[in-house]
Amino acid sequence: MTVRVFCPHADCGQRYRVDETQLGASTVCKRCGREFTVSASAAPASAA
Ligand SMILES: [Zn+2]
Repeated sequence: MTVRVFCPHADCGQRYRVDETQLGASTVCKRCGREFTVSASAAPASAA
């Protein structure tokens, strides 16, 4: 199944859908170009 993840950089927050097998892997955000770790709980810093 796919999971929703977010770029963790507060000024980006690009959303992606990735296969759950990608959880824990590092990827490069297509929007901001910075690396982040794929995590189902990742969300922009503004999230409560
Ligand atoms: Zn980003």
